[in-house]
Amino acid sequence: MKSNNTFRIALFPGDGIGEEITEPTRLLMDEVASRIGGFAFDWEPCEAGAGYYRKHGTALPEQSMKAAREADAILLAAMGLPDVRSPDGREIAPQLDLRFDLDLYAGVRPVKPLPGVRPILADPRAHDIDYVIIRESTEGLFAPQAPGTRDGDAEARETMVITRPTCEKLFDFACRLAGQRGGQRKVTSVDKSNVFPAFGFWRDIFYERTAAFTDVKADHCYVDAFAMVMVQKPWTIDVAVTENMFGDILSDLGAALMGGLGYAPSADIGNDHAVFQPCHGSAPDIAGKGLANPTAMILSAAMMLEWLGARHNATDTMRAASALRQAVDDAFSGGELVTCELGGKAGTSAVFEAVRSSLAKVDA
Ligand code: ATP
Repeated sequence: MKSNNTFRIALFPGDGIGEEITEPTRLLMDEVASRIGGFAFDWEPCEAGAGYYRKHGTALPEQSMKAAREADAILLAAMGLPDVRSPDGREIAPQLDLRFDLDLYAGVRPVKPLPGVRPILADPRAHDIDYVIIRESTEGLFAPQAPGTRDGDAEARETMVITRPTCEKLFDFACRLAGQRGGQRKVTSVDKSNVFPAFGFWRDIFYERTAAFTDVKADHCYVDAFAMVMVQKPWTIDVAVTENMFGDILSDLGAALMGGLGYAPSADIGNDHAVFQPCHGSAPDIAGKGLANPTAMILSAAMMLEWLGARHNATDTMRAASALRQAVDDAFSGGELVTCELGGKAGTSAVFEAVRSSLAKVDA
């Protein structure tokens, strides 16, 4: 942090709807900072993504990587376009490079529906859904050190990598989070240890590490059964920790249970750096139509304020995060703000204006 309480933020608009939801989020962040006082942002726009790759042949230029490394935090909207691929056929995903480079091992994906958004699950207990999926974000089936191979039309292989150092810090992170949340204080390993020895290894380390956190209960669930728990009794989940690919899939299910990807924030956190970005991708099907719901990015920015607050012992940023969250809750509370995911017409600017006007009224 700069001496005048200014946080330097590397800002990646990326591709598709990413560019459309970035500016409203930045405006709200500046507004909440000036409302609360005591801190400010120095935004550093960074180029990267599939569009950048198409023009320049590289997806994450060194200048942007340097800005990310030097920033207090990184706020990223969405990257990737289905028709822009590297020569081996993979989608351009510099957000993965950021995770690997900055060792952002803990993908934090909260699942907590907004009170005013039409519930997806009919059970009245759905109001109590409040849990976090922690997606390991640097290895598993996405491990860069073990890229898949293809032998023409005959065979293709992928490798899943589970390492002790990453597991140890991941499980410690999950236990600390469960303790800080102060709810059920429970961490669940979501794995497939009945089939894959790699997950047997994962689970052994899980119980080794969680044993040291005496205030946190540890249990486990196979990933297929866990998908069912997420629909049938999600209020029993507190913190669930899982492998990269499983986390990718389950967090989209969690997002759907909140109303859609436009409501699902996330953070990729390491020991020294963190990227805050919505769970969704660049949504090319709605890009340029003004329909993108910016809520997930606004809530990701609130997570960034909380992370900065905890890291720098800054109560002002914590207050700003609460004000922003309250403004989002208030904006949706009347039930009239219905986004396209839920069949409504409220687009990017309607959501932005509603949150901005709620923010002006929040008792901060
Ligand atoms: P990626 O793999 O890059 O995360 P994805 O395949 O999950 O991307 P998305 O781009 O996230 O795909 O889009 C999935 C669906 O969700 C699309 O129909 C898209 O329009 C919708 N969607 C995603 N984000 C939003 C948003 N912010 N507002 C409204 N709809 C969204």
